[in-house]
Amino acid sequence: MLAGGQSLISIMKLRLAAPNALIDINGITELSYIREENGVIAIGALTRHDELARNRIIQEKCCLLAEAANLIADQQVRNRGTIGGSLAHADPTADLPTACVAMNASIITRSEERSRTVASSGFFQDFFTTELKQDEIIQEVRIPIPPPRSCGAYMKLAKGHNDFALVAVAVQMSLGSGGRCNAISVVLAGVGSTPTHATETEKLLKGQVIDDRLISQASLKAAEGLTLNPDFRASTKLKLKLVRTLTERTLRTAVSRARGGD
Ligand SMILES: Cc1cc2nc3c(=O)[nH]c(=O)nc-3n(C[C@H](O)[C@H](O)[C@H](O)COP(=O)(O)OP(=O)(O)OC[C@H]3O[C@@H](n4cnc5c(N)ncnc54)[C@H](O)[C@@H]3O)c2cc1C
Repeated sequence: MLAGGQSLISIMKLRLAAPNALIDINGITELSYIREENGVIAIGALTRHDELARNRIIQEKCCLLAEAANLIADQQVRNRGTIGGSLAHADPTADLPTACVAMNASIITRSEERSRTVASSGFFQDFFTTELKQDEIIQEVRIPIPPPRSCGAYMKLAKGHNDFALVAVAVQMSLGSGGRCNAISVVLAGVGSTPTHATETEKLLKGQVIDDRLISQASLKAAEGLTLNPDFRASTKLKLKLVRTLTERTLRTAVSRARGGD
């Protein structure tokens, strides 16, 4: 299936995929939309990265997704690439899968016979491998609209300005009475085979009034329990440093926004 072609064409050129037939879904314009309905933001699978980055609903209610989309590659790639293609491709260093897991998104799949709702947390199974069945396509992504006093941030470190992430961090949080953190999601890209929760960081922050000292402490725990495999771009030691530093920066921004700053 061909959506934006930004990943598929590359892997076909590299002879890593050689499909017998290719169905171009770009003509199904009904699959390109962003709308608010029944407490969720519904995003059609053919929505381009550039539309996500510029859309007012996404910017206001789900700013980390707009930020993630805006950090993908360059304008040319953002004009063509689609959210459905990015999620189906499931590159562990890609930006939208990480952002969707942090936003607790659901993925609506469709086959001739049935429609399924799959939690994004269970959708990504391994490197470039998803829960999608052979006869299914991604139809829609649904993001629950966060309660008031919620906000997020997305940051990424890459070698070049239009590169995939060495490490990226998505933070989404909600504050409750007395400024306590009611809910928090900290999700990392580039540290494993799928988007990965920094669970020790989340545990330390949930239920607390978050201050700078706590953010520093929690960031040091971001890679706890994770195996940071070295790759051709970064050693384990460098990745650990990047994860901690970037988690701290992203948390500070998200907290400041949730309190009404920035
Ligand atoms: C130079 C370059 C730099 C890039 N940098 C980044 C980056 O920094 N961050 C980042 O996140 N991404 C990056 N990308 C990838 C880009 O975001 C792609 O657009 C995205 O991964 C795939 O989306 P697509 O619409 O182009 O899908 P395609 O390439 O058309 O398809 C990819 C795969 O998904 C399947 N597919 C497509 N749509 C659906 C659907 N609705 N349901 C089921 N399966 C479907 C296809 O069959 C194929 O297997 C980069 C790409 C390029 C070329």
